[in-house]
Amino acid sequence: MKVLLVAEYREKQLLETTYELATFADKLGAEKIWFAVGYKDNLPKVAGKLYFADAEKHGEFNPDVHKKLILQVVEKENPDYIVFVHSSYGWDLAPRIAAALKIGQVSEVIEVVDGQFVVPSCNAKLRRFVKPATDKGVITIQAGAFPPAEPNGEPEVEEISLDAESAIEFVGYEEAEAKTVDLTKAEIIVSAGRGVGKPDNIPVIEELAKAFGGELGASRPVVDAGWVDHSRQVGTTGQTVAPKLYVACGISGAIQHLAGMKKSEFVVAINTDKDAPIGEVADVLVVADVMQFVPALAEKIKTI
Ligand code: FAD
Repeated sequence: MKVLLVAEYREKQLLETTYELATFADKLGAEKIWFAVGYKDNLPKVAGKLYFADAEKHGEFNPDVHKKLILQVVEKENPDYIVFVHSSYGWDLAPRIAAALKIGQVSEVIEVVDGQFVVPSCNAKLRRFVKPATDKGVITIQAGAFPPAEPNGEPEVEEISLDAESAIEFVGYEEAEAKTVDLTKAEIIVSAGRGVGKPDNIPVIEELAKAFGGELGASRPVVDAGWVDHSRQVGTTGQTVAPKLYVACGISGAIQHLAGMKKSEFVVAINTDKDAPIGEVADVLVVADVMQFVPALAEKIKTI
C-alpha cells in the first residue's frame, strides 16, 4: 500500500501536525510519499520521496493550484490513499481531490483498526468503522488523534511546478475571535471532567477554582455537552496549559487531555477509580467522590 501525505504550512512555518500523517501511514503499514507546497529552507524532516512545490510561486494557500499539483503527483505515483490533516487547508483541498479523481473520502479519522478507519459519530459517543466505497480514497485525520512521528528524516526531494492561471486569490489569514479566557497564562487551573456528573455540579468545581484564585478548565465531553464553554477546554483540541497547579476533577486522563496539561508543575487528581490513567501523571491522586471532596477542599482553602 502507498499513501501520499500532504504537508501543511502556515505563514512560512511547517505545521507540526504534518508529522502526525507519518504515524497514520505507519498504522496502515504503508509506503510514504510526501507532497508539500512550502519553503526550501523549511522542508519537512521526513524520510522518503517528497514532491515539493515552491510556495513563493504557487501560494501558501491556494486549493485550486495545489489541487492541480497534487493531481500531477497522483498521476506519477498512483497512491492508494491521499491523506490530509483535517484543518482548514485539508478540508478545503481533500474534497476537490476526491471529486477530481471520482474516489471516496473518509473525513476526521481518529484511529486505524484492521485497515478500517475509525471516525467519531454522535458527538463522539459512538465510533464508526468505515472504508471508502472505492478502491482508492482521500482521507483526512483529526489533528491530535495520532501522535507526531519524530522529525528526523531526510527527504529525497523532487521539485515540481505549474504555470496555471487561478481564479482564487489568497487574501490572508484572519485571527480567530479572541478567546474569552486565556488558560495558557493561568497559574492554577481546576478542571471538570465527566465524573462531575451533571451541569448543576460545575459551580462546585468553579468555586474551588475561585478559592485558589485560579481558572476553571474542562475536559472535552464536558465542553461537548455544553456544561462549560469551549474556550476552557484543555487538550489537543482545546488549550495547552502549563500552570503551577492543575486539579483534575473526575477526569480519566485520556491521552488527548494529558497532551494539553502534562506540562503542569503539580497535578492533583480526584477520582473514584484508583486505577484511572490520570494517576500516572498526578503527583497526588485523591480516591474520592468529587462532589464530596471538592466542596470540603474549597471550604478549607477559604480559611487559609
Ligand atoms: P471520562 O473518560 O468518561 O472519565 C471520567 C472519569 O471520572 C473516570 O475516570 C471516572 O472514574 C471518574 N469519575 C466518575 N464519577 C466520579 C465521581 N463521582 N468522583 C470522582 N471521579 C469520578 N479530551 C479532552 O479532554 N480534551 C481534548 O482536547 C480532546 N481532544 C480530543 C481529540 C480527539 C481527536 C479525540 C479522538 C478525542 C479527544 N478528547 C479530548 C476526548 C478524550 O479522548 C476523552 O474522551 C476525554 O478526555 C474524556 O474526558 P473525561 O476524562 O472527562 O471523561
